[in-house]
Amino acid sequence: MLNKFGTSSKLYLLIFITATSLIGLGLYAIGDLKKMNDNTETLYSDRVLCIQQLLKIRFEYGTNILPMQQDVKNHTITFSAAKKRILNAQAIIDTAWHNYKRTYLTPEEWLLVKQTELVKKSADKETQDLLYILSKEDTLGVARLIQSITSTRTAPFTLKINQLIDLQVQVAKQILNKNKTLYRVTSANLILFILLSLLIALSLSFYIIKNIKDLIKDILNGSNNVKKSEEKYRMLIGHASDAIYILDAPGNFVDVNESMCKMTGYSKEELLQLKIDDIVDPEQLKTDPLKRGYDHLSQSVFRERRFIRKDGKIFDVEINVNKFADDQVLVMARDITERKQAQELILREKALSESIVNSLPGIFYLQSATGEYLFWNKSFETVTGYTKEEIAKLRTSDLIDENDFGRVMDTVKKLYTEGYATVEAKAKMKDGTRIPFLLTGTPIMYEGKLCLLGTGIDISSRIKAEELILKEKALSETVINSLPGMFYLRNEKGKLVRWNKNLELATGYSGQEIESLTVREMIDSEDHEIMNLAAEKVFKEGYATAEVRIVSKAGIRTPYLLTGSPINYENQLCLLGTGIDISSRIKAEELLKKSEANLKTIMDTTDTAYTLLDKELNVMAYNQMAVKFVNSQFNHNPAKGDKLADYFPKERFPQFLNYTQQVLQGESINYEVSYPQPDGSALWYYVKLFPITNDQDEIFGLMLALSDITDHKIAEIHLEELNENLKKHAKELAISNAELEQFAYVASHDLQEPLRMVTSFMTQLEKKYGDVVDDKGRQYIRFAVDGAKRMRQIILDLLDFSRVGNTEDDMEDVNFNKLMNEIQALYRRQIEESHAKITFENLPTLHIYKTPIRQVFQNLVGNSLKYHRKGVAPVIEIACKEAKTHYQFSVKDNGIGIAPEFFDKIFIIFQRLHNKDEYSGTGMGLAITKKIVESLGGKIWLESEEGKGSTFYFTLLKK
Ligand code: ADP
Repeated sequence: MLNKFGTSSKLYLLIFITATSLIGLGLYAIGDLKKMNDNTETLYSDRVLCIQQLLKIRFEYGTNILPMQQDVKNHTITFSAAKKRILNAQAIIDTAWHNYKRTYLTPEEWLLVKQTELVKKSADKETQDLLYILSKEDTLGVARLIQSITSTRTAPFTLKINQLIDLQVQVAKQILNKNKTLYRVTSANLILFILLSLLIALSLSFYIIKNIKDLIKDILNGSNNVKKSEEKYRMLIGHASDAIYILDAPGNFVDVNESMCKMTGYSKEELLQLKIDDIVDPEQLKTDPLKRGYDHLSQSVFRERRFIRKDGKIFDVEINVNKFADDQVLVMARDITERKQAQELILREKALSESIVNSLPGIFYLQSATGEYLFWNKSFETVTGYTKEEIAKLRTSDLIDENDFGRVMDTVKKLYTEGYATVEAKAKMKDGTRIPFLLTGTPIMYEGKLCLLGTGIDISSRIKAEELILKEKALSETVINSLPGMFYLRNEKGKLVRWNKNLELATGYSGQEIESLTVREMIDSEDHEIMNLAAEKVFKEGYATAEVRIVSKAGIRTPYLLTGSPINYENQLCLLGTGIDISSRIKAEELLKKSEANLKTIMDTTDTAYTLLDKELNVMAYNQMAVKFVNSQFNHNPAKGDKLADYFPKERFPQFLNYTQQVLQGESINYEVSYPQPDGSALWYYVKLFPITNDQDEIFGLMLALSDITDHKIAEIHLEELNENLKKHAKELAISNAELEQFAYVASHDLQEPLRMVTSFMTQLEKKYGDVVDDKGRQYIRFAVDGAKRMRQIILDLLDFSRVGNTEDDMEDVNFNKLMNEIQALYRRQIEESHAKITFENLPTLHIYKTPIRQVFQNLVGNSLKYHRKGVAPVIEIACKEAKTHYQFSVKDNGIGIAPEFFDKIFIIFQRLHNKDEYSGTGMGLAITKKIVESLGGKIWLESEEGKGSTFYFTLLKK
């Protein structure tokens, strides 16, 4: 138990000692390793960098500043180029110097740096001088400078830099040596420790040895990790797909990886000679210059740059800048040309789609499910008149007419369920006007939300056009319906697609019934073949007609003349048909046939011979009489087809030809002609030739009409003979009349003389022997004197009678009213005595011989006054009536009247109804009156009733 305890406590002690020594040794070793690591880092990050900067300074000073004077002097470089190079070199030197000073420097180094700083200042001064000389282009100054420099051989600045470089090298060497020593010490310590550990391990358990082994392994691993991390870093940079480069504060490339080289087209060596400014697009640098110094970088920064490849091509990169070490940045760059192009493409696409949307003919909008307008095109604003801001606040109800709103909302619902919907609605504009729109909508997902993609097209013009079409249709419908006949359009299947009212009226079918019928069904089956052929012809030749019977719904068949022509109607080949009811025409044709037959009968039964001749005088038609005529007269038969010329007696033909030529010019000719007959008599014909015209009034022939007028002719001859006799008699009569007048005149004159003698001797007789003669004797004497007086009156009247018609006066305008006044004045005494009343009014004024007409009225009025009833005052009415050809005068009285058997007698000379004692007179008055009236072309007559009165009428012809 004790032993056990002792061993275990010893073991524990040993383990404790081992552990403590191991920890101590481990800590020591770790400390050394850390130092070693730090040294290595310093060596890598500072020493190398220091030397790089110093080398850069030496290079720039030695190659770009010092040799310049010589080059200028040798004219291998211009003043300005030299100056440029010097300025450039000086800037690099200053930057390098600045960077160098910022690296870790040992106190010894600092001492040398301060000394170098002084020398640098004088070198800078020299450089300034040189620059001054160069800017003055002072060749002499250059020469002087060269002299001063050559005397010093090597520039003190270069010397100092060289010293610094050497020192740096030495420091580096020291560090390396230190590290080597450290390695050595650490290795010795470790060997010691291992020996110790081995000792302990030997006396202790395998477990401890194992632990120690592990510990050793860990320690070794620790140093390996440092190397590995460095390697990893190298590997990472070297093999990174992104371009990686490290920049120092002035922007020089400190390190670059393979990808960077690939991306820029430069080799690593070339890049390390360049600054970041050299590969950035100068245009970009103008607006976005590089930032000097990296103090501002607290965390990694992303930005975009445009790099220039070695071949000059500019490309876009995205860089990620990270602070790497002091005054250094690690930049990861990625070529984003493609991404950029893609972005540009997207932008272009967006601009394109926007311009498309804005150039859409109608309005276009995106509306959320809650009715907000999310997006719309320009037209939406211009059409509605709302601004962008206003539209954003609008809802559907603000833009749709109240009457259409319900329908539009129904459509919106429908489009969400069916995926698409359209509606025609009136849109409300900002100014209140309403415009009809065709709206379409379809649901789309926009930014994760269900939206309505709507379009709208102004259809006011379409609606107007539709109205116009409707109007046009109505017009064409009216036109079609007002067509006189039937009109229809049928398609190739025989269905009627359009027709007019007349078709419905003619067939008795309603419009609906016609729709379900074919043309065939409306046509008599017997005419189907005709119809088929005609339809075929229409489509082949473009036009056809057919006479068919249309069967009405009631089964009535009516003949129609159909015409058809092909037409393209609503994209189908149709037949445009018209139909005219030809039943009346057919009837007319039948009638014509009948009337022709009638005419023929008439022609054949007429007494006139008719022959129709054409222009060449060929016989075209003739009637039975014509046959009879030529047969009897010329012994010809026209049925043989002879020419008319063949019928004619040769001597007459030229005359006939002359006539026909005149007729063919349009004249009508009539003449009479006689044909001698074998028995010595003659037959007379009345010949009428007249032109025959066609529908166009063109003369195409002539008609020869021949009537037998022999009987008329004979009657005429008789009449002429009679007339001749009459004339002879009249002449004889006129002579005898004249002789009679002569006789009456002579007689009345010659008789006057003996009468006067009788009267005067009778008067003497009474005077001388009145006492001797008794009363009886005296009475005889008085009778003789009265007789002689009467004889004288009769002779005077006779003279008057004989003179009627021989007036030598001129005709004059006679006012009959005035004439009556004159007559009244003539009979004034009788009128007063008998209290007669004479009335007359509105009598005409006529151009006439005044004396005879005065005589007429004088006789008639005188008789009316004379033959009045005893105790009855005469009432005489004179009147006149105007007729078409004459004036009719009347003289009416209320006298004794005349018995009808004396109506003629009273107009005969010397005829009286009373003796001289009752009523005086010679019986000549009415005879003279009648003779005057008739000599003026009139008539005289009377109406009378005994005891009541008489009316005498006479007429005077109008001129
Ligand atoms: P006159 O009067 O000299 O006898 P007229 O020739 O004038 O001869 O008449 C013939 C006869 O006609 C008359 O005698 C008379 O009887 C009769 N007469 C004529 N006028 C009338 C009359 N107005 N009324 C009655 N008788 C008439």
